[in-house]
Order: sequence, then structure tokens, then C-alpha cells
Amino acid sequence: MRRLRNVKIVATLGPASETREMIGALHKAGADVFRLNMSHGSHDEIREKHRIIREVEEETGGAIGILADLQGPKLRVGVFEGEGPTLEEGADFRLDLDKTPGDVTRVCLPHPEIFAALEPGASLLVNDGKIRLKVRDCGEDFANCEVITGGVISNRKGVNVPDVLLPLAALSEKDRADLEFVCELGVDWLALSFVQRAEDVTEARELVKGRAAILSKIEKPAAVERFEDILEVSDGIMVARGDLGVELPVQNVPPIQKRLVRKCRAAAKPVIVATQMLESMIESPMPTRAEVSDVATAIYEGADAVMLSAESAAGDYPIEAVTTMDNVAQEVEADPTYTQIIESSRKADRTTVADGIVAAAREIAETTDIKAICCFTQSGTTALLTARERPRVPIIAMSPMVNTARRLALSWGTNCIITDGHDRFKLAVISAAKAALAEGYAGPEDHVVVTAGVPFNVPGSTNILRVAPCDERLIYASDPE
Ligand code: PGA
Ligand code: MN
Repeated sequence: MRRLRNVKIVATLGPASETREMIGALHKAGADVFRLNMSHGSHDEIREKHRIIREVEEETGGAIGILADLQGPKLRVGVFEGEGPTLEEGADFRLDLDKTPGDVTRVCLPHPEIFAALEPGASLLVNDGKIRLKVRDCGEDFANCEVITGGVISNRKGVNVPDVLLPLAALSEKDRADLEFVCELGVDWLALSFVQRAEDVTEARELVKGRAAILSKIEKPAAVERFEDILEVSDGIMVARGDLGVELPVQNVPPIQKRLVRKCRAAAKPVIVATQMLESMIESPMPTRAEVSDVATAIYEGADAVMLSAESAAGDYPIEAVTTMDNVAQEVEADPTYTQIIESSRKADRTTVADGIVAAAREIAETTDIKAICCFTQSGTTALLTARERPRVPIIAMSPMVNTARRLALSWGTNCIITDGHDRFKLAVISAAKAALAEGYAGPEDHVVVTAGVPFNVPGSTNILRVAPCDERLIYASDPE
């Protein structure tokens, strides 16, 4: 489906969006990638959503990305007797390994490895940071804390430990089972939660075995500190502002977002800005002005994708939320200031032939009146490099690999077309010209730029650029062979 914008939209599916009608309508309204949250729902429910997405894809003819988001090592307290107690500021509160129900003085934190890593002075944040505890003293099976910010604490609330590099396995037992399940099912992206170090990503990669691209969620201070190393071994990044804003002061999130988005673009890897983008639309058909501005800012910064969580998964207005993002994106991208910002932040280290060719393709397209850049890509790398250039004309990524097309659904400005495999460049040029015509990117009088690697079928070998007329007869006339 041809979109009138370059930034992509990721919509999380949930109880508010599980029917065939709703998923079809969300895609029509603008969702390019669907996110399956492995923290919720059984494998049967995930399988059913996956089946529906592929059915919608089949009917609409374009590639749709599916991103499965693993829960990761999320820490939770145990249970309480009756209703959860209210913790008062200044009071003592003990965390231990005793499974008996907790009360106003203590509760179980069933993670021995955390006690081993805690030190006096460390903060523990419970229930999205609403309750703040500070460790006074601790041992191998307990931590005595002071309540810094009080509130109601209840069963199985989440716990964040921002100050400590946690000796946690990157993948829990549940994550490993979920990973195998979704890889077998066939997802395009696998998101890893609470990544702390590059090794967490390489460990997951060994299990994924190439069946999906890997996206690291940056939601811990440790990951922000080690961002370069994590980016190096990841295929994409999510700025997961929800947990990031719990683990760090909220005002630290915007500068981190800006820095991460820039680094991802320089590395030609897609980056999603996520969480609370249109939060009020969970209950209201209209966003706040601040939310609209937040979505716009992420787009001005050059993000590849913006994401909806509860707005599309559990809210009352999933379609309106997607439509809002689509409208904001079209408006921002039509703004000359956007073009100026995007072009002045083009900072690629060009070292390869492919880097040079994609840069030349953009220059030629923008210098003359060329309607699209068509790039033949096996692995998707050439399309990613072309997207990094952020050209003013549409990018048509031509790939014989359906998996490549689906992964590219997350990347800025890439419109994917599944082609037959080619062995002759002229035939490839003709198929590119035909695709540009058929999809309405160009008319018969127009020209497109075509890039490819010859011989075909060798990934990462882009070495040829041709300016071609869209009229097939002219291609034959100029190149009878
Ligand atoms: P989550 O991740 O929705 O899985 O928690 C996103 C975030 O923390 O922002
Ligand atoms: Mn999170």
C-alpha cells in the first residue's frame, strides 16, 4: 500500500485490536508494522494475530512487518495479604526471599541475584517509579530499605533497579520459549527488553539463528552508557521511553532520544521512538497538543518509526490514533524546515562503493526531475543505505526476498516491491520502471534512478547506477541487448 509519508508507524496489537476487521483497518489507516507484546497473551492468541496479519498482507499485496517484543528480565515483588498496604514516607520496608505473603513491613522479591548485586544507597523503584525505596543495608537474602516516596504497593508490581548493573540473564526461561515460538511462527523483528550490554544481544542472536532481525530496546541507564556497543551488534533500536523514564529522571529522556536517533541514522539502522506518544487517545478521540508535538518532534529528529502501545492495543480509539500519526507525519514532512533539518544532519561516513552509489543516486534524483530511486537489494542493506541518505524522492526497494521486504517495513521511506530474481541488469531496469509506473510513483514520460549489484544474487555488492526512462520501449531502444 503506497503511503504518503516516509516515517513508519508501528501499532501494538491487543484486546482492542485483535479482529480481522480491526487489523485490516489499522493497516489501511497507516500501520506499517504490527507489534506483538509477549508480556500478554498465550501462544495461541499470538498465533492467531500473526495469521490475521499475514492474511491482511496477502489481500493488500504489500509487505507488512511483524515485531515480537519479548518481556525480558522484568523484576516483580511477590504477593500481599489482602489488599496491598500503603507505605508511608520515612518508614522501614524489607525485601527478602520469604514467599509468605507480605504486609506493611516486608514483601518477597524472588530474585536472589538482585540481593547479591545491591549496595547500600541503591534505589528500588516500584510500580513504574511511583514508589521509591532506598537500600539502608542488605545481605545475600534481604534488603532493608527506607521509603523515600510512599504509596500503595500491591501484588506482583514491577521493580526497577536503575543504579546497578544487574547480573541477570538477558533472556528468562519464558523469553527463551517465546523466542523459539515466534521464530518458528515467522516474525520479522524480535525486540529484546531491558538490554544491558552487547553480549545480551549476541546471546539472543545465537538462538535466533537468522530467523528474525534483532531490535534492542534501550530502557536502562546501563544500555544508554553502552549504546555504541549495543548498536553495533543490533539490527535496530527502540527508544523505550516508558521504562527509561522510570530508571532515569524523565527530563533525561529527550536528549537521549535525540542522541540515539542520530546515531542510528548514521549507522543506517532503523530506530523506533516509543511509548506514550498519544497516551490520552487511550480514552479520547483527540490527542493533546503536547502529544501531537511529541510525534512531530520524533519525525523532525529523523526517527524511522513512531510507535503506539496501549493506544492501539487497549484503547478506545486505535484507528484514530494511527490516523493522527499519519496526519502529523504528512504535515511535518511537507514542511520545508523538516527537509532542512534532515538534510543538514546527513552525516554518513562513506567508505564503500555502495555508500558512494546511494549518495550519487540521491544527488542525481534531486538535481534532475527524477521521480524515484529504485534499488535492488537482497539483504536490505542497500535499501538501508539509501534510506540513510533521506532522499527527497521515494525509495522503491526491489527484492526477491519477502523477509527482506517485511523487515524494511520499519525503515524510513522504503517502499518494498517483491520482484522475481533477475540475472540481467536490463531486465531488472525494466521491472523497476514498470513497478514505478504501476505504483504511481512515475508516469510514462518520467525517469527513475536504478541501482543494483551485478552480478545479481551476491548480497552487499551494489556497483551500478542507471538513469532509466519509465517507458519500456525507450529502454529497449537505448539498450537493445
Ligand atoms: P514496554 O516497552 O512497553 O514493553 O515496557 C516500552 C517502554 O518501556 O517504553
Ligand atoms: Mn519497557
